[in-house]
Amino acid sequence: MQSNFSVKQFIEASFFAAFVFIIGTIAFRGLLSILVPTTSLRYLVYLPILWAALRLGQRGATTTVLILSVFAIIETVRGFGPFPQGSLSERLLLLQAFMSVIAATSLLLAAVETERKNLVKRKDDFIGLASHELKTPLTSIKAFTQLAQKYVEKKEIKKAGNSLQQLNTQITKLERLINDLLDISKINAGKLAFRKEHLSFLELVLNTVESMQASTDTHRISVKNHIKNGTTMIYGDKDRITQVLANLLTNAIKYSPSKNKILVTIQSNKRYAIVSVRDYGIGITHEEQEKLFQIYYRAHGTNQNVFPGLGMGLYLAYSIVYEHRGKIWAESQLGKGSTFYISLPIAKRADK
Ligand code: ADP
Repeated sequence: MQSNFSVKQFIEASFFAAFVFIIGTIAFRGLLSILVPTTSLRYLVYLPILWAALRLGQRGATTTVLILSVFAIIETVRGFGPFPQGSLSERLLLLQAFMSVIAATSLLLAAVETERKNLVKRKDDFIGLASHELKTPLTSIKAFTQLAQKYVEKKEIKKAGNSLQQLNTQITKLERLINDLLDISKINAGKLAFRKEHLSFLELVLNTVESMQASTDTHRISVKNHIKNGTTMIYGDKDRITQVLANLLTNAIKYSPSKNKILVTIQSNKRYAIVSVRDYGIGITHEEQEKLFQIYYRAHGTNQNVFPGLGMGLYLAYSIVYEHRGKIWAESQLGKGSTFYISLPIAKRADK
C-alpha cells in the first residue's frame, strides 16, 4: 500500500517537473511564438501554478514559482521572454511585476486549498469520534437497563434505583451530544433561533455556576464579583448564554484533572458585561489558541480516552456569543491553565 502510494507520487512529480519545463520553455523562450504572440503565451504559467497550488500545497506552489522565476529571468537576460520591448532593466521590471501577481495568486490558492483539506480531515476525524461518543453512552444504557431489569425481577428496589440513576446520567450525556449536533447543523444552515429578553447578568452567571457546582464533586468553583445585582443587564437568550457558560465551566473541569480550583470573575466596563472562567489545568499553546473556536478543532489531539470530546462546544459558544454581538477569547499558558472570557454588550435600558 505504502510503496504504491510513493510510486504514484513519484510518477506525478516526474510528470509535473516535465510539465513545468515544457510550459517554462513555451512561455519564456517563446517556443510557439510563430503561432501565438509571446505576450499571450506567458499566461500559460498559470497551468503549472494551479496544479502546484491545488495538489502540492503552499510549499509546492512557492517552489514552482521560484523555478519558473529563475527560468524567466535567464530567458529574459538572454533576449527571449514574454516582455520583448525596452531595455533589459525595463523588461526585468515588467517580469518582476508579472511574477509577483502569479506568486500572490498561487499562494492564495494554495492557502485556501490547504485550509479546505484541513477542514475535510477534521470532519473525517469528527465522524470517527462522533460515532465513538454516541456509541459509548448507548453501550452503558444497554448494560444499565439490563441490570435494572434484573434487580426489579429480584425485587432489589434500591439497586434498581441506582441503575436507573446511572441510566439517566448516560441518557443526559447522549441528549447533550445530540443537541450539540443539531445546533451545529442549525448554525450552518443559519437557522439557530434565539429568544432574547432582558436579563440580569449577575443572576445568570451565578445560577449557572450554582448548577455546575451541584453536578461536580471534583472541583470547587469560586466566584469573584465586581458588579451589583440588577445594575448590569444584558439582552440575550438565557438558555443559550447559559449553554456557553456551562461549556466553559465543563471544559475548565475537564482540562484540569489534577487541580480542583476554578475561578469565575464577573465584571463590567462602560459597554460590556464580562465573565471569565479560570482554570489551573493543562493549558493551550499560543498557536493553538487562535484555532480553538474553529469547528471540530481539538487542541489536545483525538485521544478520546484522555479527554473525550468532539470540538463542537467552543465553536457553538463562539457562534452564540457572536450572535449577541459579544466577544469570546482565551488566554492560556501550556501547563499553567487557561482563562476563557466572554463579553456581552450591556443593554441600554439597564444603565440606571
Ligand atoms: P471538546 O472539549 O469537546 O473537544 P471544545 O470545542 O469545547 O471541544 O474545545 C475545543 C478544544 O479546546 C478542546 O479539544 C481542548 O483541546 C481545548 N480546550 C478547551 N477548553 C480548554 C481548557 N479550559 N483548557 C485547555 N484546553 C481547552
